[in-house]
Amino acid sequence: MNNLSVSDGYHRYHIETKTAPDIVAWPSRFKVKVSRVGLARLLLSELIHYRGDVEVMLSRPCLYGVFSGPVGGFMPRSEKCVGCLRCTTQYPEWVRVEPNPERQRLGDSYFTFRHVNAVAYEAESGRIPVKGAGYRGRFGGEGWDGMWTDMSEIVRPTRDGIHGREFISTVVDIGSRLNFLVFDERGEAAGKTPQTFTIPLPLLFDAPAPAVATPTLYRVMAEAAGEIGSLAILPVEAILANQLRGPHLAPLFTPAEARRLISLPFKPKMVVMDGWDEQLYEAISRTMAGVTVCLRLDFTAGEELLRYAEAGVRVFHLTANYHGRGRDGAFVFDLIRAAHKTFVQAGRRDEVTLLGSGGVVAAEHVPKAIIAGLDAVALDTPLLVALQARFNGEFTHRHDDHCQLPAGLDVAWGVQRLKNLTAAWRDQLLEVMGAMGLREVRRLRGEIGRAMFQKDLEREAFAGIEGYGS
Ligand code: SF4
Repeated sequence: MNNLSVSDGYHRYHIETKTAPDIVAWPSRFKVKVSRVGLARLLLSELIHYRGDVEVMLSRPCLYGVFSGPVGGFMPRSEKCVGCLRCTTQYPEWVRVEPNPERQRLGDSYFTFRHVNAVAYEAESGRIPVKGAGYRGRFGGEGWDGMWTDMSEIVRPTRDGIHGREFISTVVDIGSRLNFLVFDERGEAAGKTPQTFTIPLPLLFDAPAPAVATPTLYRVMAEAAGEIGSLAILPVEAILANQLRGPHLAPLFTPAEARRLISLPFKPKMVVMDGWDEQLYEAISRTMAGVTVCLRLDFTAGEELLRYAEAGVRVFHLTANYHGRGRDGAFVFDLIRAAHKTFVQAGRRDEVTLLGSGGVVAAEHVPKAIIAGLDAVALDTPLLVALQARFNGEFTHRHDDHCQLPAGLDVAWGVQRLKNLTAAWRDQLLEVMGAMGLREVRRLRGEIGRAMFQKDLEREAFAGIEGYGS
């Protein structure tokens, strides 16, 4: 059910989550290796200790059932191992738990297996993966990892959004706004008025890479976007060919395909023009009254971006490749900053909406992209991984074919997986905003003061000390 369709009074936005187990077996996270001689010795001693109680003997030492198969630990069920290391702590001489190299080959060099693990868990359960004290990863690095969010309580008191005791809004506006309103002598708004619509979370679905797209995938994306109240950007041809309809679909068209918009059996909230054609832009804006016309292009900034704004464009969908790199190799964070700053310096930032795609593969990348200056993120590869797609090589560009969806992709299952993923990512966004003391995601946009950069902090701490920077 679309949670926003209920109109009788106030309803808190909520995405319905439900466990949606994997439809194909992924390689287990760990490999449990047992010395059979050591195990046999243990069993012998336990046979005596537990007076022949086979059930108890076979359930030990793993609470998760790894040693509870028909032949117990002689054929450990590695797929059940959660890596708690209890067994290796108690019996280091005959059991070893190792990461499964096959699992580590999932994803590619950017969408690493760690990201795959997180997305897989989120899409299956709808919950936040909790690492807690068990997190043994790095606390810095390149790209998104070089930026931390400032959650200091000294800045503002924290808020509780995720558990519902306080309200934190994740609603964002898409469309054209004005820096100020003009009123006539009767107090009526005169001149232009804002032309916006809202979506309840700063996440949209971006059109899938052509090589991976199937009618089922389009249906999954369309239904899931409708159910969470967001938008799915899908090729206009795919919308027509698969008889998809509803204002939650944002038809994507090249200038050559613009005529196909006439055949749409519904009025979209937004259409997305893939490539610039000024006359066409004007014609569509004029004829499709009340429809937001978004311009999609590679990340750019400065004069070029301002020229489009001069021509009337108010919603931009800026794209980097799937590894978060722009045309000149710059990282998406810097690309977002440059686009955002272009409009800030021109005094026009509030007039435009910036959507962005490319390189956002983990929940924490969403608030970071918004802090850099986006209004909302259009998700690409995480949607495919949530549906258990496997990469067979570097999946870097939209036109690569290094990605394959599982056979037997089912619409209801796929919709639930995408709902689970977006619910988990929204919860993590609420966590970040709660920790920062922010009440709404619109205020997070461009709040670079809430970001800390590893390189800056290291420079402040270590500059002048011998060995730093060498
Ligand atoms: S590491 Fe934990 S879950 Fe894995 S086999 Fe050992 S006890 Fe079981």
